[in-house]
Amino acid sequence: MYRVVWFLVLVLLPFNSITQLQFVSQEGISDSRYRQNILLKKVDIAIAEKSWDKAELLLSFAYDSGRSRYRVKELEKRLKTAIASNSKSTPPHIVTKPAKKRYQKTIYLTFDDGPMKGTTNVIDVINKEQVPVTMFVVGQHIDSSPTNRSRYNKIRDNSYMLLANHTYSHAHDRYNTFYTSSKRKILKDISKNRKLLRDDILPNSPPYTRLAGRNVYRLPTYVSDDPYITKRQLAREKSSYDMLWHEGYYLYGWDIEWGISRKTKRYRETPHRLVQKIERLYKEDKLATKGKVIVLMHDRIFQDKYNGKKNLSKLIQILKAKNWRFETLDSYLTIDDIKQGKYTQQKKLFNIDKFAKNRSQQKRNKENQLDNFLSMKIDTTKL
Ligand SMILES: [Zn+2]
Repeated sequence: MYRVVWFLVLVLLPFNSITQLQFVSQEGISDSRYRQNILLKKVDIAIAEKSWDKAELLLSFAYDSGRSRYRVKELEKRLKTAIASNSKSTPPHIVTKPAKKRYQKTIYLTFDDGPMKGTTNVIDVINKEQVPVTMFVVGQHIDSSPTNRSRYNKIRDNSYMLLANHTYSHAHDRYNTFYTSSKRKILKDISKNRKLLRDDILPNSPPYTRLAGRNVYRLPTYVSDDPYITKRQLAREKSSYDMLWHEGYYLYGWDIEWGISRKTKRYRETPHRLVQKIERLYKEDKLATKGKVIVLMHDRIFQDKYNGKKNLSKLIQILKAKNWRFETLDSYLTIDDIKQGKYTQQKKLFNIDKFAKNRSQQKRNKENQLDNFLSMKIDTTKL
């Protein structure tokens, strides 16, 4: 009897830790690239501390979790050299590359009008490339069919995607009429979409919004009106934008758009040409916010008939190669920008202190989960 109990303890205990581990790694940390980076850093530290077993173990996890086999192999070589030279009782020579000045340029890829045809292709590419993006969704599209509802659910459940408000009705695609109609009607449409998304977005975050058909900014740090409409029309619409700002909405426009030409049915620029334009905007500082480029795209331009997946992947890969850092619009403004920006609203639709707390909590959670993950793996080997 005792033998059976011991058998169960010995066999099931490690098994149990392993299943727990898998739970943490699958549910807790979705960003495998992030996890791999941290693992590799920890390998570095373990080598420096001459904890060879720990370094080897961490390396194997980095190998499992990862896309970048090359970096793992590089570290593996270093570990072997370090062990070999240490056994000859000389301290291992650890070469740590100096931190390059990277990631100064930030890109915000934004996708409008989903859920719709093309949305699934966007999701597929983003999962493969693992970059954060912002999705401005239209409530009426979500409600229009079960197919769109399920496309929306995929956006909602995707950890790379930030959900944002693009009005409920998309102004029925009649912008001049919509923005000159009653303010109550405009506000009702935008708050209807906000309510629809409410349960799916982080509580206490600013109501990230983009107007349908209008490139308008209303932010604590920056205010601008649509440059593409006539002065006369603008004079009639301006008070509607201001009303939304006073009601507490954060309105985001864009610095550059990537689209399909109506005539040729092809992309207006190749991904290469678009990145050249983006780089020029950045260099000449023709941006709403210095160093930050917001790119507008529409889900529909990534349908198969335009070879959307290939083109979007290409764009992201070129941006990566040119050291752009990808972010979602929730990091476009810092907490100080929000608190001390020169433009102030009347209504507050979120609590800034809670937002700041949530933001740092999210970061900490990610790091804690990773630490748990590492310590659990190591304990397992001791059993
Ligand atoms: Zn739109």
